[in-house]
This record gives sequence, structure tokens and C-alpha cells, in this order.
Amino acid sequence: MTVPALEVDGLRHGYGGNRLALEGVGFRVMPGAFTCLLGPNGAGKSTLFALATGLLRPTAGQVRIHGHDIVQASGDALAGLGVVFQQPTLDLDLTVLQNLRYFAALHGIGRRDADRRIESELTRLSLFERRGEKIRALNGGHRRRVEIARALLHRPTLLLLDEPTVGLDIPARRTLIRHVHALCAEDGIAVLWATHLIDEIDPATDHVVVLHRGRVRASGPVAVVNAEAGCANVAESFDRLTAANPAADMEVAA
Ligand code: ADP
Repeated sequence: MTVPALEVDGLRHGYGGNRLALEGVGFRVMPGAFTCLLGPNGAGKSTLFALATGLLRPTAGQVRIHGHDIVQASGDALAGLGVVFQQPTLDLDLTVLQNLRYFAALHGIGRRDADRRIESELTRLSLFERRGEKIRALNGGHRRRVEIARALLHRPTLLLLDEPTVGLDIPARRTLIRHVHALCAEDGIAVLWATHLIDEIDPATDHVVVLHRGRVRASGPVAVVNAEAGCANVAESFDRLTAANPAADMEVAA
């Protein structure tokens, strides 16, 4: 049986207010699948990312990366995980190459190996020629591509991206989406791509997890989610599944 690249089970998290940020969240991402974590602002996407990367500890529930629990076996879990956070974290005054070499060193990758991997990732992102330029000189789309290259240097099998296209123009968004789909199809990498933009979903191939007010409202291949919601397309399904429903808000147990 294939082990899921990401398995989230009964996940709950609260920040101390009167509403939980996540409650009973469960879904799977299988190897090679491009899965969109779809939810409006405040749905709980960033909280889920913080839990999946071990930055926060869940109040209840588990996150397993290739079967390794992020709390109980964090070293093994993190070894298989690449992350592109919403806020860019490149050093603007270092070159592309310096940023990538620094990250590789943090992962204990030797210089020769690192340079080989950097060349291969930058080449497929059409950025190898720009390796000597400072990040500051690159536009937003190119910076994002460097972050994706960086997230892949330690050869993860699961890639998490938190709203990676924020602030990018349409051509840069398309390039990024195409590249990440190719990673799934060609390398078998599993992807969880958080977004609130419906048009980033490819209905023919992608899976979706619709998150709303901290709960999973639907998950699966786009066609299945549409059929279950009784809708013709993902935009309609999203509107229906995320319609205001204050009665469904969960209160923190007294
Ligand atoms: P999204 O990424 O989908 O916009 P978040 O995970 O940021 O959603 O937020 C989910 C809920 O948790 C929201 O109600 C938000 O206000 C709340 N929240 C997020 N971060 C914090 C925090 N650090 N402290 C208190 N509440 C938070």
C-alpha cells in the first residue's frame, strides 16, 4: 500500500480566542498529487502550514509526512519536507548562488553535491544564468523561483507552498504553477499549494481540500468535489462550500 506523502488526521488548534482556528481537520496528499488547499482569508491555511512544519504543536490530532509524525519523529518528517512560506525569506544582499549554498550547508549537503543540485534546479527554472546576481536585482517571480529551487535542494518528497503567487503578475503565476505541476508529474513530488484563487486550480488533474472556518468542507479530485457539491465547476463549489454559516462555527469547549 502506498504511504501518503502527507496525512493529516483529527487536527485541532486554537490560539486562545473563542473560536478554534482548526477543528477535526483530516485529509491526505498522495505521492505525485498536486493538491490545492483552498480557503478564504482566515480559513486556517497558515495555521495548518505552521502545524505541518512543526512550528506549532497541535492541541489534538496528527500530521504525518511519509508516515513520520511531525511531533514524535520530527527529524525524519522534516527530512522529506520542502517549504515555501508566504513571506519571502531570501537574503536580498546575497547572490542566488550564495543563498542556495547557505541553505544546502544548513542541510549538511557537501559543496560539490550542493553545486550539482543547484545547477540542476536553477537550469530547469531558467535561472542558472542569473546565479551570480543579488536577490535584490530579481523581480518577484524570479525570487519565488529561487525559493522553490531552495526548497528542493535536499530532495524532499513533499512540497508545501503557502500562497506562493501573492504579488506576482499573471505570466509569473502561470510559470510557477506550470513548473510545480511538472515536479509532480515528472518527479512524483507531492504538493500542497495553499491559495484563495480559484483560477490556480487545474480541474483536469488537481485535487482540492476546501477549508472554511477551520474545517474541511470537501476534499478529493476536483470532479468528485464538484459532483458532491452538486456544482458544475470549482468556482461554484467553492462559493457553496464556503457560504457564510455562522451556526457551524465551532466554539472552544468550556
Ligand atoms: P488563513 O491562512 O487561511 O488566512 P489563518 O491560519 O491565518 O488563516 O487564520 C485562521 C484563524 O486563526 C483566523 O481566525 C485568525 O484570525 C486566527 N489566527 C491566526 N494566527 C493567529 C495568532 N497568531 N493569534 C491569534 N489568532 C490567530
